Amino acid sequence: MAVLADRLTDVVGARTANALASALDLHTVGDLLRHYPRRYAQRGELTDIAGLEIGEHVTVLARIESTTKKPMRTRKGSILEVTITDGSRRLTCAFFGNQTWRERELRPGRTGLFAGKVTAFRRSLQLANPEYELIDSDSDDGLSTVDDFLSRIIPVYPAAQGLPSWRISKAVHQTLEMLDAEPDPLPEWLRREHGLPTLFEALHAIHRPRSDAELRSARMRLKWDEALAVQLVLAQRRRSTGGRTAPACPPKSGGIAEAFDERLPFRLTEGQREVGEAISADLAGEHPMNRLLQGEVGSGKTVVALRAMLQVVDAGRQAALLAPTEVLAAQHARSLRELLGDLARAGELGGAERATRVTLLTGSLPARQRKQALLDAASGAAGIVVGTHALLGEHVSFADLALVVIDEQHRFGVEQRDALRSRAGEDISPHVLVMTATPIPRTVAMTVYGDLETSSLRQLPSGRSPISTTVVPAAEKPAWLERVWQRLREEVAEGHQAYVVCPRIGDEPPSEKTERPPVAVLDLVPELENGPLAGLRIGVLHGRLPGDEKDAVMRAFAAGELDVLVATTVIEVGVNVPNATVMVIMDADRFGVSQLHQLRGRVGRGNVPGLCLLVTEALEGTSARARLAAVESTTDGFELSKLDLELRREGDILGAAQSGKRSGLKLLSLLRDEEIIARSRRVAQRVVAADPELTEHPGLAALAADMIDDERAEYLEKT
Ligand code: ADP
Ligand code: MG
Repeated sequence: MAVLADRLTDVVGARTANALASALDLHTVGDLLRHYPRRYAQRGELTDIAGLEIGEHVTVLARIESTTKKPMRTRKGSILEVTITDGSRRLTCAFFGNQTWRERELRPGRTGLFAGKVTAFRRSLQLANPEYELIDSDSDDGLSTVDDFLSRIIPVYPAAQGLPSWRISKAVHQTLEMLDAEPDPLPEWLRREHGLPTLFEALHAIHRPRSDAELRSARMRLKWDEALAVQLVLAQRRRSTGGRTAPACPPKSGGIAEAFDERLPFRLTEGQREVGEAISADLAGEHPMNRLLQGEVGSGKTVVALRAMLQVVDAGRQAALLAPTEVLAAQHARSLRELLGDLARAGELGGAERATRVTLLTGSLPARQRKQALLDAASGAAGIVVGTHALLGEHVSFADLALVVIDEQHRFGVEQRDALRSRAGEDISPHVLVMTATPIPRTVAMTVYGDLETSSLRQLPSGRSPISTTVVPAAEKPAWLERVWQRLREEVAEGHQAYVVCPRIGDEPPSEKTERPPVAVLDLVPELENGPLAGLRIGVLHGRLPGDEKDAVMRAFAAGELDVLVATTVIEVGVNVPNATVMVIMDADRFGVSQLHQLRGRVGRGNVPGLCLLVTEALEGTSARARLAAVESTTDGFELSKLDLELRREGDILGAAQSGKRSGLKLLSLLRDEEIIARSRRVAQRVVAADPELTEHPGLAALAADMIDDERAEYLEKT
């Protein structure tokens, strides 16, 4: 008999075990039994051939329609061409070499599983030298109804070259026969409460379901294992950060925060006020705040962050604001100073009485300025320090850092956030406010950001102008592209400004590829200058410009000294120039859905409607065009982030490449399994509250440890 921890070698033999280990990274009985079928084929129901894609490794259930034998042209021997069908479409299987026994076996009318890589051959689909297993439908005489269901269902496994689905299936059967019922990792009360079968039952049923109902409940149980493992880790994590101490910053009357509110040139939106109150209460507390603030582009997150930072300054402590790029950091510093006016000029002529200092600290500052900035941070003279990762460098020290605000966190590496958490010393953690304009579906927030409280700004400040988006299919309608540049000139003629975004800088060495490389900033600029945009003042911005140059360009654009800014995605986040009204995105299909949404948020920030033109050569009907159409159809960031999630592999969301790996979410879908995620979160919360180390629940402890390998746990830790 065997248990889940046993090595496969002892159960399925060395040859198969080696194949499973090298092709699929499966080593133990548990690994194999958690390699679940990708789908289930029904005997008699053939696989839809129309759904196959070139390059895919597929397993199809099909009927042999005809066979022909042709001599090989170049060598001795022959090709056996076997045409298989799903009843309407055909696929050719080509077998090379002289194998008369194959010809005898592969008779028209027989049904089998065929596995291999799909290739295109003379405008039709082909499997070259596929592996196959014939299945004869006339062998199920005299079986009971239950076994009948079993014999009709064929599990199809994620397979690999040389290790077809049916070989995996055989190994699984062999293993299941040997499997011993061990104590279930989920305690009985939990299974009863949620109507879940035992692990033993579920593993049998997912591989060899005897009915649809049994399969459904097996999947539910196994999804629970995954959801609960993640939620247990998060609950433990919330508990341990909650137990840390943070520098308390109670609000103070008559301080800089009040002075700022009094001179605010606009009314805060209701959302800004509410979120502000929640943050204020958190900051006053002794435990670190860990809050995620999501809000559409332009919803006014910066003001919320600034008010929080001022409360910290009033408490005599410091706040740091981190941006993903130097351009943004510089811009943030500038706009914070602008918003604060004389409140940001402590110690300067004309500085207000209750003033503080906003200090920019980035890697590219000239040595003297940098030294001064470091000094300001260390002495506490700077109440607010703005920067990038450079702020996390070991040589930067703060007098009393109490709050860290991270802007546009999706561009901010996990490691940086981690470095930051450990900044304030031994058992003290600063309060952390993470801001993002990419709304995150609730379930993802509960899983990936499960240790953060989330708040959202749902309304835009009034007077915000709508953005309209249009896809420009440059391949089908070249005339439209001319119209794009005309349109841009019209806006400039009205006194507005424009962005042109390209996927590439253009200073890379030429690539070997024959297909056209994406449009590059450095190539496009001269074309525009000498062509459709002749006479306009054009600026260039990309990540490889020296820091001060980037800053100068941004400043010139903000001051209206440039009409057009041709840039890479460095302008993606946070750049705020209300006079910019048009954005043209070249080769828009090269960008992700959320990224496009971010980008277009740069226009329509003033009182004039924004226009975003998505130029693409992707053809109608492709998935690239479908993504662009989605961006065109809605400006609801929430909808788009859902769509983005559907288009990406869910594994990617959890960071590391999880696919095919032992750990990770295999069955659980962050989009569709909201119910399970929410329930398991409540269970985890309850269990961890009563038993923080899970000593009373060895099964759950093992589940969490098992399913979440080190790498992932580390990732979740850092999120
Ligand atoms: P984001 O959430 O994208 O970071 P910002 O904080 O940059 O948005 O705000 C965008 C613009 O809206 C800024 O110019 C800001 O001053 C302005 N703004 C913020 N809150 C309000 C408000 N309540 N009423 C009017 N304008 C506001
Ligand atoms: Mg912002």
